[in-house]
Amino acid sequence: MSAHFYTESVSSLRRKLAAKEVTPLEVANDLLARIEAVDPKLSAYNFKPDAEKVRAAAAAADVSKPLGGVPIAIKDVLNVEGDPCTCSSKLLHGYTAPYDATAIAKLREAGAVFVGRTNMDEFAMGSSTENSSWGVTRNPWDTERIPGGSSGGSAAAVGGHEAFAALGSDTGGSIRQPASLCGCVGLKPTYGRVSRYGLVAFASSLDQIGPFTKTVEDAALLLEVISGHDPKDNTSAKRPVPKYTDAIKKDVRGLKLGVPKEYFISGIDPEVQSAIKAAIDQYAKLGAEIVDISLPNTEYACAVYYIIAPAEASANLARFDGVRYGARVKNPKDILDVYRSTRAQGFGPEVKRRIILGTYVLSSGYYDAYYNRAQKVRQLIRQDFTNAFQKCDAILTPTSPTAAFKIGEKTSDPLQMYLADIFTIAVNLAGVCGVSIPCGFTQGKLPIGLQIIGAEWGEENILRAAHAYEQATPWHKELPAI
Ligand code: GLN
Repeated sequence: MSAHFYTESVSSLRRKLAAKEVTPLEVANDLLARIEAVDPKLSAYNFKPDAEKVRAAAAAADVSKPLGGVPIAIKDVLNVEGDPCTCSSKLLHGYTAPYDATAIAKLREAGAVFVGRTNMDEFAMGSSTENSSWGVTRNPWDTERIPGGSSGGSAAAVGGHEAFAALGSDTGGSIRQPASLCGCVGLKPTYGRVSRYGLVAFASSLDQIGPFTKTVEDAALLLEVISGHDPKDNTSAKRPVPKYTDAIKKDVRGLKLGVPKEYFISGIDPEVQSAIKAAIDQYAKLGAEIVDISLPNTEYACAVYYIIAPAEASANLARFDGVRYGARVKNPKDILDVYRSTRAQGFGPEVKRRIILGTYVLSSGYYDAYYNRAQKVRQLIRQDFTNAFQKCDAILTPTSPTAAFKIGEKTSDPLQMYLADIFTIAVNLAGVCGVSIPCGFTQGKLPIGLQIIGAEWGEENILRAAHAYEQATPWHKELPAI
């Protein structure tokens, strides 16, 4: 019987590839067989990987490169030249990406092999991957439950060991929340750290691309590869990219970690609450200094987000008109009918809800009352973080108020679904960075995630804190039964 590699982390796989203990082709074949065996149960991928293409890329991979021969899964919202890019929307069925997103080009340059397109909530709107035209993705720890969202396919693929790592996008929690629910590491970089060129836009002032990985070291490695200034995205920062893989080596002695009182509200599942408390104690044992902080405007984050994000989405999604991209209705009456009918048939109910909400808050007469006001409160939320980071280097919170919920449990109540992101949304509104790492399990063996929030450009601090905790705890070593 040949050895299996699919449970390896990227870093350990890299070492084996470099030492020629295994070839990229063997790795690709092993992963393709794993996907074949497991994906019918999880549906993490929207399309079966093109096995011949994957094998050819693996055979040609240069293992001396940072990610040479490492297969990586990509959320179906990022353009990979020649692959479909559907955003899990009917409207984009049949669309093929004509170019590489910058993050993809950087992965390609680093030698990565693209293995498939992962499922998501349509246009990244949702917290459960149930709003997908391809059907729901299942949680590898319990297939009756959701994987989180919107990057649920990427999280389930990594958590279920049918990808070594994946990319996702995070507008209000879409990397961190599913990572937390699937037991993997998910990092949302500071706004401007990673170029958004080639990422299909949801809310442009909030969107960031980031990695899903099995370990913190892997997250540091992937972030190092995909970060940096890009002339094709004016919001990408002209800042050097630190060696994140070196930053993680420092321990946490003397690091000041803030615990915001507003994040331990009622409504948090008691098992989540006690896992987070235990993680805080663990940090104290490791020599970090725990400080009380306050983020008083957090209570407005959800309300502000659900004005700003839909407003931006309503503008961004105007381009999907049946003329320029993807699907178009057959036999339209006239040009207006092309627009109306294509959009009516192509968009799902949640996307329509966001477009209507966004159009409403931007309409004359309501603009000041909603949109302008939300922008002002967004400033206050930003200021809260600036104040907090005077007192601490990073902030500890739960990533999600509960572990993974049952498929169908929240679909009839959008507001309940929106509350799944209560701890992650403020990070996007403030433009700072955050990572979710495994910090325990419920009695029912569902993963729980700890969120570590950093200041702008604070990735080194949060990765350092995440790595120290990971090295001191067993959670990341657990494998789902699937
Ligand atoms: N769940 C949030 C929403 O539906 C966040 C999604 C995201 O980060 N893309 O908007």
